[in-house]
Amino acid sequence: MAVDLHSHSTASDGSEKPAALVEQALEVGLKALALTDHDTQDGIFDARAAVGGADLELIPGTELSLEYDEGGMHLVVLWLEPGPGPLQDRLEELRHGREQRNELMAQRLTELGMPVTADEILLEGGPGSIGRPHIAAVMMRKGYVETIEEAFELWLTSGRPAYIGRPRLTPEDAIQLARRSGGVPILAHPHTLGINRADEMTDLLTRLIPAGLVGLEAFCAGYRRHEREGYADLARRFGLVPAGGSDFHGAYKPGLSLGTGYGDLVVPDALVDELRTHAGVT
Ligand code: AMP
Ligand code: ZN
Ligand code: FE
Ligand code: FE
Repeated sequence: MAVDLHSHSTASDGSEKPAALVEQALEVGLKALALTDHDTQDGIFDARAAVGGADLELIPGTELSLEYDEGGMHLVVLWLEPGPGPLQDRLEELRHGREQRNELMAQRLTELGMPVTADEILLEGGPGSIGRPHIAAVMMRKGYVETIEEAFELWLTSGRPAYIGRPRLTPEDAIQLARRSGGVPILAHPHTLGINRADEMTDLLTRLIPAGLVGLEAFCAGYRRHEREGYADLARRFGLVPAGGSDFHGAYKPGLSLGTGYGDLVVPDALVDELRTHAGVT
């Protein structure tokens, strides 16, 4: 049986409603699905209702973007129960940072000759946690770019003209807050860290493990077999649990399927039991 430990719904920058994600997970025959919307847990209630009595373990979670100048560092937190808690209480301010950033990016795009309003972005994103994929979709609809990927590559990625940062947690703070909240912190899609030397990766893991890091994503869509095996070996060498998932976003990441990623992804279900042993306030 396969599992998927990284997915996004309309509660953040996925195109599918939480209940639709659960339906797809059941169709694909997943044994476990983690809902890891950016900076929010709002989707988990509808997702839980959709599971009903079905044989699917639905894991509540979130995904955080962390302060890291060298590249994009994301943390997936699993078994984070919605409601009050040390990390849960910080999510709202992170979403507020997104709102302010979106307004600034709308202004910047307008200055760059691509008029976009904050309202257009809000309309695209709906009530959820709004992100750059929503801005990319507005740009696409208005004919400024042909694809979401192109919007990122030319304008929205860090270092590009329309990129504007937002307040983030430091890696240590995020990991500690996750553990104090009973969650299981996992370093996401490690290729986006921008690290290409073994000693840099060693230094980073040596820094994050004392803070309480539990897992490292190895089973990511788009990775080749030797990359998945390499990251899984790396995780084990540092006493971390390999993890992973499709990072499904529906139409915001075309071609990607829940569970199977680009068709060849299998996240072993035994990892769920192993990761779960670290859940709960310690
Ligand atoms: P934000 O949360 O606003 O910082 O946007 C980050 C999200 O944008 C990621 O979670 C991805 O879903 C998406 N993203 C980042 N880089 C790219 C890219 N090059 N192409 C398409 N989507 C991307
Ligand atoms: Zn996303
Ligand atoms: Fe991510
Ligand atoms: Fe993600």
